[in-house]
Amino acid sequence: MSDLFDSFGRRINYLRISVTDRCNLRCIYCMPPEGVPAIPHSELLSYEEITTVVQAAAGLGINKIRLTGGEPLVRAELPKLIQMLCQTKGIDDVSLTTNGTLLKKRALELKQAGLGRINISLDTLDGDKFRQITRLGELKDVLDGIKAAREAGLNPVKINTVVIHGINDDEILELTSMTCKEGWHVRFIELMPFADVTGIVPCSEIRQRIGPLGSLEPCCLIGNGPARYYRLPGAKGTIGFICPVSEPFCSQCNRLRLTSSGQLCPCLLSEEGIDLKRPLRSNASMQQIERLILKAIASKPKQHHLAQGTVHMKRNMSRIGG
Ligand code: SAM
Ligand code: SF4
Repeated sequence: MSDLFDSFGRRINYLRISVTDRCNLRCIYCMPPEGVPAIPHSELLSYEEITTVVQAAAGLGINKIRLTGGEPLVRAELPKLIQMLCQTKGIDDVSLTTNGTLLKKRALELKQAGLGRINISLDTLDGDKFRQITRLGELKDVLDGIKAAREAGLNPVKINTVVIHGINDDEILELTSMTCKEGWHVRFIELMPFADVTGIVPCSEIRQRIGPLGSLEPCCLIGNGPARYYRLPGAKGTIGFICPVSEPFCSQCNRLRLTSSGQLCPCLLSEEGIDLKRPLRSNASMQQIERLILKAIASKPKQHHLAQGTVHMKRNMSRIGG
């Protein structure tokens, strides 16, 4: 296996896979209240088909996989897929992003299947606000999920927090203090303009608001993404910043995205991807799949234009896999 580069010299080694577009929540920044039309099960890539894509990608130089959605834990037998991917030659890191609501009962089997680490989305520590943001969920389920993930030995467990002005920005300090009290790894994410929700709080402002808690020392945390990590003096946990709008990280982008229906997308904002489902279902050879992956990489744009305003996409965040 050799290293894989796109036409702008970026090394591509990371594939994010949306295993379903379905979700048991309706977060205000991700989905409309009624949810999104569910793709019929027959149109979703099977675990065998996903594994074939990963085998082809691994042969080219991809070695890191993240499973996401929609909510990946609503798809049946997810540990089976994790096991298949962990056994794929060339893959050395399989991770998962989840809303955590179903994690309490699943954390151990995910770990036993080979999952190394996990990101859990949690925007608030207030139960009422949690229901306001997610429209359907219960905060306790996620808190139980975080506990279970840590007890199962998933490491690190990272908490993803999308900060929204006037909704949860008053909790920046409380969430940050969880890095000291509980050793949480909390990552603040800038709101991207996918849904009709506005109120981005730029990372510069988040950093400023954390100021009174102490000076932030730069540090490292295992991961494949663009987050920059810091630590409050003496804290076991870390604070990460992901700033796709105010400080775009396109120049370091290392990833491709596979939608649940088999479109391979070179960028989060791609309107169209390259269809892998039809070739997979008409017995394409491994070389043909590899050629399609290389075609997607060759079409990776230099950058996105998120900073310029609302994004009108045919596909929403839950489908392409945030
Ligand atoms: N359902 C899982 C979850 O919520 O973690 C995985 C899929 S979700 C689309 C992946 C991540 O995208 C979550 O951390 C979520 O907070 C983030 N996300 C969704 N919409 C977003 C938006 N408009 N701006 C920033 N992050 C967003
Ligand atoms: Fe579901 Fe995750 Fe989107 Fe929330 S952010 S609606 S949990 S897919």
